[in-house]
Amino acid sequence: MTSGRWRSPSRARSIVVGDVRVTSVPDGRIQLHPAGWYGSAEPPRPVTEVQPLLDSEGYLVASVGSLVIEAGNHVIAVDTGLGPVHVPGGRGHPAIGAMTGGTLPEQWRALGLPDPTDVVITHLHEDHTGWWSSDSRFGATLRELPTIAGRGDLDRSPLATLSDRWQPAAGGEQIAPGVTVMALPGHTPGHLGVRVGSRHDCLIAFGDALHSTLQIPDPTINAFVEHDPAAAVATRAALLEELQRTSAVAYGNHFGDVVFGRVDARQWHPVD
Ligand SMILES: [Zn+2]
Repeated sequence: MTSGRWRSPSRARSIVVGDVRVTSVPDGRIQLHPAGWYGSAEPPRPVTEVQPLLDSEGYLVASVGSLVIEAGNHVIAVDTGLGPVHVPGGRGHPAIGAMTGGTLPEQWRALGLPDPTDVVITHLHEDHTGWWSSDSRFGATLRELPTIAGRGDLDRSPLATLSDRWQPAAGGEQIAPGVTVMALPGHTPGHLGVRVGSRHDCLIAFGDALHSTLQIPDPTINAFVEHDPAAAVATRAALLEELQRTSAVAYGNHFGDVVFGRVDARQWHPVD
């Protein structure tokens, strides 16, 4: 049974793609209002689809964390969670409830993962840069590593001054054997994804091109925070078309505890 997983924050989960191990390392979760997050008065899909995704307080459960890719000599952290942060709910925010991070370094150690060698930040929002920018030992370690982010995000972020190890990317860059950066613009101007493996055994980590599985049947559903809504829809539609056509495994970092899955018949099918 996977039903409880759709409305729970992610546990640590690993899969193997070719000869590369990828591990979802949890940091915590953010509650997203099922209507307000999408900028509307009503949830964007029928209640029968929305209800199974909601926690006991009526929110979508957006996991936060890092995807660790072990490829050759590289240990790549894709995103760095929310960081040591707890913001309580009940503030009347129309889109977001409680936000809780904080477990990434201890989970990393408990899983016995090697130290990171590279960082990729899919986009410079706080639930992805959390530990990287934090005033912590883990943060200081991360900031010493080569860190890829979208050129279009770095050009407009105060975080650009926090490190001299930034490597601005536009998509197409290779990080390690079989690991390349993808341009997925829309949510932010320089939003990136990461592709692992080859055409027939491939994983795509798509960042915040989608925030919940509710967007899979209808790629026109945008979150209220998209920088360029039309580009976000075009990127999401092309991504979903590719995932459907190739049966590639995808990683949806905010997808509750069903972060690894395949797209078929416009639905998400967890794979681990
Ligand atoms: Zn996010």
